Amino acid sequence: MAGISRYNSTIVAVGDELVGGFTLDSNSHWLAERLRLLGYPVKRITAIRDRPEEIVEQLQRELADPEVTHVFVSGGLGPTPDDRTFASVAQALGREQVIWEEARAKIERRVRRMHEAGLLESPDVTEGNLRMARIPADPAHVFRNKRGMAPGVVYEARGKQIFVLPGVPLELKSIFTEELEPEFLGGGSAATVRELRFTFAVEARFYPLMRELEEKFPDVSVGSYPNFETKELVIRCLGSDPKRVDEVLEVIRRRSAELGMVGEARQA
Ligand code: ATP
Repeated sequence: MAGISRYNSTIVAVGDELVGGFTLDSNSHWLAERLRLLGYPVKRITAIRDRPEEIVEQLQRELADPEVTHVFVSGGLGPTPDDRTFASVAQALGREQVIWEEARAKIERRVRRMHEAGLLESPDVTEGNLRMARIPADPAHVFRNKRGMAPGVVYEARGKQIFVLPGVPLELKSIFTEELEPEFLGGGSAATVRELRFTFAVEARFYPLMRELEEKFPDVSVGSYPNFETKELVIRCLGSDPKRVDEVLEVIRRRSAELGMVGEARQA
């Protein structure tokens, strides 16, 4: 799939709970779909632990990849000591950490409101709360994050944009759809995706055809995805030129009919 888009994204999901099997990494799944539809397809998704050296190592890998234009980091921005993403991003980018005044003022207001509502004992901002306003210096943009305390932040480095977002799914989605997408992701063009669905088809019978299509249509990626519950086999074709994708779909339809399999086309 590489090479079909001007833009290529990667996602780094930070959290011991993700790699420990406690929490499903739904943020990455959601982001990957949105990014594909917006024309910023994802090249790689990595889930890693809350260890600074591991976060820094992964970020360095993303920064060193010449194909990657957009990096999305989620999680580990909160007030507890296991939230180390901002410090690690600062290290990977070689920047100081600074207190971001707007974020600090917002945290103060939220803490005061939560105290007034009886949710917090003290109206004072704790060291933990303040950590969420300590971001790597020189952000390209700081998102407001209407739903939470930790700000989402954008950096520019080595010709890439690095988006650092909170892990709480509601906060991540709201920043993405309300602020990030309209401001930063307007220039992509989504790939065309077409699917053919077969019932009770044997995946292996498509193998020679898929090899052939790979050679004749290198610009269209063709994947086969069996679903063992519904007994359906989905053949999915994806490419930047709708005509070429349709051509591939037609070849598959024709050849599978010759083999006695009938597929129902769906626009994905
Ligand atoms: P906060 O500022 O609220 O602490 P945060 O950026 O520190 O946010 P985390 O502490 O990493 O986020 O996680 C907060 C919550 O969001 C946890 O319940 C966590 O399981 C959930 N979460 C984090 N990352 C993901 C993810 N990739 N997919 C789904 N849920 C996630």
